Amino acid sequence: MGRITLDQVTKSFGAVEVIPPLDLTIDDGEFVVFVGPSGCGKSTLLRLIAGLEDVSSGQIRIDREDATDLPPAKRKLAMVFQSYALYPHMSVRKNIAFPLKMAGMSPAERDKRVDYAAGVLNLTDYLDRKPGQLSGGQRQRVAIGRAIVREPAAFLFDEPLSNLDAALRVNMRLEISELHNTLETTMVYVTHDQVEAMTMADKIVVLNAGRIEQVGSPLELYHTPRNRFVAGFIGSPK
Ligand code: ADP
Ligand code: MG
Repeated sequence: MGRITLDQVTKSFGAVEVIPPLDLTIDDGEFVVFVGPSGCGKSTLLRLIAGLEDVSSGQIRIDREDATDLPPAKRKLAMVFQSYALYPHMSVRKNIAFPLKMAGMSPAERDKRVDYAAGVLNLTDYLDRKPGQLSGGQRQRVAIGRAIVREPAAFLFDEPLSNLDAALRVNMRLEISELHNTLETTMVYVTHDQVEAMTMADKIVVLNAGRIEQVGSPLELYHTPRNRFVAGFIGSPK
């Protein structure tokens, strides 16, 4: 569960090729970070994996199944957005359970999954509150809870911490890393923040103008950057 393969995937918007042919394998349970400057194609690549954009050519496989033409809901992936749209009039419990209710799951099974997610995220004492009565970090956790209850094969994060202040960002970084250790589920995490990439990733994918400059562990990229771009971006002295 949770292996994602991109085979010669491209994406063009009109005449502009934003992603030239790209191959990438994300292994089951891996924490993979896409990092690169603004506009390099990180979000586009994540949206292609999520099925929120169609590939122009190439193939995407999820757990060996060809997912290229599957709609987002059929991909077994859960996307966590930076602008976490919670329903202000619903309790935390109802917010987290919402995708399950939409999927027609029984109330008992819904409660079981919400209780599990709340336990993992330290939200057990907040389930009856409304989003307006939560801190920014707690609201972010509710958004993650909504993803957890769907029991996805992989979580996709697009700069989930960029709206938080610096101290909270450090906290949430640790929490997401802990969550990964607990769930052992594949996570694909987009950021333009080198520190996030270096501290969270099993594997970093450095992107530049839609191309992969290098793939490797944080230590590999730091000690053996393939070129000046990677060295400059990761901050090693090459
Ligand atoms: P990043 O997330 O790394 O900042 P994006 O994936 O958002 O980069 O964008 C990559 C490139 O694709 C940019 O040049 C952006 O302007 C372009 N792009 C993204 N989405 C669209 C779209 N829907 N239509 C046209 N161009 C787009
Ligand atoms: Mg982006």
